[in-house]
Amino acid sequence: MTNSRQGRDDAAELGEVLSLASRLAQEHLSGLAGRRVAPSAEAVELLGVLDRELQPEGREPADVISELAAVGGPATVAMNGGRYFGFVNGATLPAALAADWLVSTWDQNTALAVMSPVAAACEATAIRWIAELLELPPGTDGAFVTGATMANATCLCAARDRVLLDAGWDARDDGLIGAPEVTVVAGEEAHATLFKSLGIVGLGRDRVVRLPVDAEGAVTGEGLPEASGPLIVCLQAGNVNSGASDRFEPVIRWARERGGWVHVDGAFGLWAAASPARRHLVAGVQEADSWATDGHKWLNVPYDSGLALVRDRAALAHTMGSDAAYLPESGRDAMHMSPQSSQRARGVVMWAALQSLGGSGVADLVERCCELAARFADRLAAGGVEVLNDVVLNQAVVAFGDDPTTDAVIAAIQADGRLWAGPTTWRGRRGMRISVSSWRTTTADIDASAAAVLEITEMVPGGCADGAEP
Ligand SMILES: *Cc1c(COP(=O)(O)O)cnc(C)c1O
Repeated sequence: MTNSRQGRDDAAELGEVLSLASRLAQEHLSGLAGRRVAPSAEAVELLGVLDRELQPEGREPADVISELAAVGGPATVAMNGGRYFGFVNGATLPAALAADWLVSTWDQNTALAVMSPVAAACEATAIRWIAELLELPPGTDGAFVTGATMANATCLCAARDRVLLDAGWDARDDGLIGAPEVTVVAGEEAHATLFKSLGIVGLGRDRVVRLPVDAEGAVTGEGLPEASGPLIVCLQAGNVNSGASDRFEPVIRWARERGGWVHVDGAFGLWAAASPARRHLVAGVQEADSWATDGHKWLNVPYDSGLALVRDRAALAHTMGSDAAYLPESGRDAMHMSPQSSQRARGVVMWAALQSLGGSGVADLVERCCELAARFADRLAAGGVEVLNDVVLNQAVVAFGDDPTTDAVIAAIQADGRLWAGPTTWRGRRGMRISVSSWRTTTADIDASAAAVLEITEMVPGGCADGAEP
């Protein structure tokens, strides 16, 4: 049986549904400033209507989109607005959003350059621009992936194969069973997904030698182990709680002396290198061999956009190259540099975002978010809230009293809806993470959010803001 709608290509119908989507998208965006950040419980409950039996007959596209927007829109989290401080989530820049629409419209498979010359061209240029902005070594190349988790895994695959090849073992073709031992070193405060990535690439989550960290969660260079043979050292630019970066220079020097590969997880923190005012925080990061970062965090492009960068493109090409007669090398082929074969044209969106910001626009975005995070922390501190970290980047961690009180205040903030921030445990204490990562966040958003936090804290028994009951 054929669907009655199949195979139709009606220009009027297409125009109708695309115009409708554009109108609904604009309505959604213009509603961001006035709405709750977290969806209401009722809106989430209404999602149940989407869970129905799939009918044999199809529906008009415009009808599908109208329903989706009506039911789905209110159940979104307004992380694209100015008062979302959860996780490390950016907002989508206008040029990036529009480019993303074009990417879907063009429907380019980006596996091979011959499949999409435009995607290949934009990807190569975007990677070059990013390497320049982050002051990475000339010749740095890389691959677009879904996020920093996969970027870590991608870089660590290249690292694994290279250090084992140096030891006379071909891990790509022969696997890890029977391979020489690889010493893997990472900071005690490395991101959870770094350990996950090590597990994915067969190096194990738990056999990692963990380096001690300072009060801000940064590796200092103390406690480096005895190491000989294949060595991979994983460092971090931007602790997900404190924003602190490891001290790259001494550790990279140590690794170099031992022929090791140094990988840096810089999901958001690597962008400090794009700001003249913050660059010193990641001094020496350029000396590493590979870097994982995200576009969808601080660069404010849509999900899912991560980037695996390597100093030596040949190492990545060795690991990710694949051959089949119908998949010829046709230029700069994404599939021969990345774990994916078929893939979205993420480089096109990145190209558009970087063009719209310009080099100093990227620096301004980074700097503004850092200043706003400090402003938020200062306002809260002035109101009697305890700031648990040294606010050097776009991250602040605050506590409202003892652990149960802090959790109660965070729950009240989330329920209130004027802003959104999430909980964490930092140095043995419960805290609220504040991450300022959105181009849309204004000084007014920060001041209104800080005032709301103080007001809510006062209403929670035990909450330590000035004016609270003791
Ligand atoms: C967010 C983050 C990751 C994971 O990134 P995804 O894009 O969510 O995969 C890894 N490391 C650090 C330091 C992060 O902040």
